[in-house]
Amino acid sequence: MAVEIESFVRMIPKAELHLHLEGAIAAPTVVELARKHGVTLPIVREVSELYDFPNLGAFLKVYDLISQSVRDAADFHRITYEALGRSASCGARYVEFFFSPQAHLEFGVAYSTMLEGILAGMRDAERDHRILSRLIPAHNRELGPAKGEEFLDMVLADRPDEVIGIGLDYNELPYPPDPYAAMYARARAAGLRVTAHAGENGPAENVRTAIGSLGCRRIDHGYHVVDDPALMALCREDGIFFTCCPTTTLFTTPWRDLTASDHAIRRMGEFGLAITINTDDPGMFRTDLAAEYLHVAGMGFGRDELGEFALNGLRAAWLDDVTKSAVLADWSAQIALAAGP
Ligand SMILES: [Zn+2]
Repeated sequence: MAVEIESFVRMIPKAELHLHLEGAIAAPTVVELARKHGVTLPIVREVSELYDFPNLGAFLKVYDLISQSVRDAADFHRITYEALGRSASCGARYVEFFFSPQAHLEFGVAYSTMLEGILAGMRDAERDHRILSRLIPAHNRELGPAKGEEFLDMVLADRPDEVIGIGLDYNELPYPPDPYAAMYARARAAGLRVTAHAGENGPAENVRTAIGSLGCRRIDHGYHVVDDPALMALCREDGIFFTCCPTTTLFTTPWRDLTASDHAIRRMGEFGLAITINTDDPGMFRTDLAAEYLHVAGMGFGRDELGEFALNGLRAAWLDDVTKSAVLADWSAQIALAAGP
């Protein structure tokens, strides 16, 4: 049974909409890049121990070191190509991924250098792994809305077609979304799509604000929506999408048992919210897209539901409607075939 469901989740076409480039880097690559640029990493016995985080502080420290270790276009190319290759090996066909420009600007890396490397990595991954991808620069909410306006200026000034939207991430609890309403309105007016991390470690109210004030139709995480039944009903009615990431809930939310009957993702799925399944920081948390689908299978969802969550990933994607409906028909047929009679 276990083998069968595993081959099913690997086989079905999937989208990934919540993946942070810097959190996707495998530990051995971090070690090589740090050595290349003379960045001192914590001393560990095994390379994999680099990603053992006892707490959030330790996680952010390593995240900072990783960001310092990615400096030139070749580095950005490498980490993008490797991350997309790993997604493709799990059956992902389409990826919209975040990166954190401010984490690199801080170390003197130009935005154009980041884009040059990342776009080249995306093109090469498409050629070699047949995986299509789009890019979402994300603003570090801890820096505040004034820096957010500067961030948006930068994104709009150098805007290849692959950059399709913006995100809002980092620590949500002390930094709620409300101050970003004006920045988000400007981004939407300029034709960018928008999403925001909300309701991960912050309250349901942040989900409400991200939808009502920031204009998001897609919410990253969103788990605390389960604390507000009226909001839950509204999200179901309006078809709001949620990019859920099972493994990282064990670290950043109160739901620390993926098999518990009250886990937020399970409750969201059972209620009929449009959830999608994603990896978040697959390198740093040593997971991948197939493993995340298996975690959701472990919550009691069967093939039909897993197939539906995979299709939600495409429905929530920021592709144009014509492309989307053509691909949707193709994916639906492949999923039905994989599910069997
Ligand atoms: Zn995230």
